Amino acid sequence: MPETSADEPGRSTVLLVRRTFLEDALRRAVLRRSGVTYTSGTEVSGLCFATTARPRRVIGVRTPRGRLLADLVIATGGRRDRTFGWLREGGAAAPWRFEESSRLTMYSRFYQLRPGAVPGPLDDPISAGGIHDGFAAKLLLAGGKVFSVSFGILPGDPELQALREPAFFAAAAGRLPATAAWVDPHRSRPITPRPLAIGGLRNRLLRLVAQDGTPVVHGLHLAGDSLCLTNPVFALGVSVAFEQAVIIAEAVRRHPADLAAQMLDVDKAVTERIAPQFDAVLAQDRTRIERWRAAIASPAVADDPSGPTRHQLVRELRRVA
Ligand SMILES: Cc1cc2nc3c(=O)[nH]c(=O)nc-3n(C[C@H](O)[C@H](O)[C@H](O)COP(=O)(O)OP(=O)(O)OC[C@H]3O[C@@H](n4cnc5c(N)ncnc54)[C@H](O)[C@@H]3O)c2cc1C
Repeated sequence: MPETSADEPGRSTVLLVRRTFLEDALRRAVLRRSGVTYTSGTEVSGLCFATTARPRRVIGVRTPRGRLLADLVIATGGRRDRTFGWLREGGAAAPWRFEESSRLTMYSRFYQLRPGAVPGPLDDPISAGGIHDGFAAKLLLAGGKVFSVSFGILPGDPELQALREPAFFAAAAGRLPATAAWVDPHRSRPITPRPLAIGGLRNRLLRLVAQDGTPVVHGLHLAGDSLCLTNPVFALGVSVAFEQAVIIAEAVRRHPADLAAQMLDVDKAVTERIAPQFDAVLAQDRTRIERWRAAIASPAVADDPSGPTRHQLVRELRRVA
């Protein structure tokens, strides 16, 4: 783990760890605290409310084993979190919600370096590649001798969706300067039987206030992807989730008993500290979508010797067909 460069203003630290490693470390840290009971394998099926008055006051959650009552509930159900629906079913006013597709389909494949093989070139300590005119191609180190190669395209791109087929994927990866040396069959071999497709990526921000800024509920906060879901390509999810945890802790410390003030405090911080990051992702996604649509619609431009344009790559794939 790097030392303290993230403390310097404007600098951030990248942690390259497997998700399971991070989750295990967090679980151990939580369990070391006294007074914590960790219950896994219990599905939450809804919220419990104190009265029917508005704003609704959440007093716990429903589970198949009965109600679990709490002074405060924090919903962290991830990208498929159902809190919005539970609030509406429970008679709460509609929370503020913005959602938009990232318009990105990814095809990804893992490779392993052969024994004794020297790794290929990188653009930074962990990756190579980036965004081209009409597609993206990225190589990412995954620990040990394993690395992934991913292509990003517009969903339904009539030609580049061929990348889901192993032969086309291999041809494209072998053509790109960022990945060609790495996927040379003498240097590495694929360890996933075929490219894995990732789609349905969305950007979503949910705030527990109505359009006029008044809280729609008391005794409930959101954290993680349930509050702010961003295109995973930006790798922001975990750090934004930690920021949300800090926001909630600060608000609870400042207003332990005044639930209305607590909700407003959280929403103010979300607006000031989370929404700008969300907006930045949204803006970059929109710019990329526009450029990629233009690249698909445009007639062939001159070939680019430093890396294939979309038209060059399509030509390459047609040769394989
Ligand atoms: C392909 C991909 C790559 C990514 N790469 C990165 C990256 O490099 N860096 C980064 O920071 N972020 C990355 N992210 C995003 C990151 O994974 C998420 O932001 C993060 O996992 C959000 O954490 P979470 O706890 O909110 O949700 P999750 O990690 O999704 O956890 C939600 C948990 O809640 C449980 N749950 C849901 N509903 C219920 C219920 N009703 N009852 C009980 N349990 C329930 C789920 O089973 C799950 O265990 C990536 C995401 C994807 C899809």
